[in-house]
Amino acid sequence: MLLEINKINAGYGEVQILWGMSFNMEKGEIVALLGSNGAGKTTTLRVISGLLEPMNGKVYFQREDITFLKPYKRVELGLSLVPEGRQLFFRLSVYNNLKAAAYTKKAREHFNDTLEMIYNLFPILRERRNQPAGTLSGGEQQMLAIARSMVCRPILLMMDEPSLGLAPMLVLEILKLASRLREEGYTILLVEQNVRQALKIADRAYIIETGRIVKHGNGKELLNDPDVKKAYLGL
Ligand code: ATP
Repeated sequence: MLLEINKINAGYGEVQILWGMSFNMEKGEIVALLGSNGAGKTTTLRVISGLLEPMNGKVYFQREDITFLKPYKRVELGLSLVPEGRQLFFRLSVYNNLKAAAYTKKAREHFNDTLEMIYNLFPILRERRNQPAGTLSGGEQQMLAIARSMVCRPILLMMDEPSLGLAPMLVLEILKLASRLREEGYTILLVEQNVRQALKIADRAYIIETGRIVKHGNGKELLNDPDVKKAYLGL
């Protein structure tokens, strides 16, 4: 088991958002967390990446209890978050955005090799390496956000709404990229509002409603599930 979330309760101040959240991931899987606005998907990613301390419950990564580990320590262990909204340094070049992400010792030591690996995966970023990130298209910016999260050589990539704000054709392209990264050996936790497309590429998915998992299954099962069809696919 690569990641195990066990009975997490979490929230902001007095307001509880996650209620006994439990799920797990094996190495090499794409697992989607799906649900409508405000269901608690981003909150779940914040707990896993250490940005939000849970009220109770446990998070295990490679069987190690990381519930209270500092975020940067989790990065060193191989967890990486691609935040919602990309959060790039828009005035810095593509190269410097990548360079700025190399803040662990391992990332600095292997930066040149990692950069080559990234440029091979995303040829457009090699082409645009000296261009300010703010001048990239939406799809290219999302690629850069994903590439940046790979600089610290993660095992698990958590992507928060990677398709947000992209044109339909690019949505598909970005989600296909997730499949490609899985083929390269990454494990991917994908938060998406684009339920249909996410289910097509995910090995398994969990549906979250008001901070609780209400359904779990493989992508195909959920695509054909009458409740999922009605609530999320508009059928
Ligand atoms: P979305 O797609 O809208 O981001 P989500 O499923 O990711 O949805 P979360 O961002 O986890 O949802 O938010 C869950 C709930 O927590 C929402 O009701 C939101 O208003 C609330 N919330 C999020 N961040 C904070 C915060 N910093 N302080 C207080 N409440 C918050």
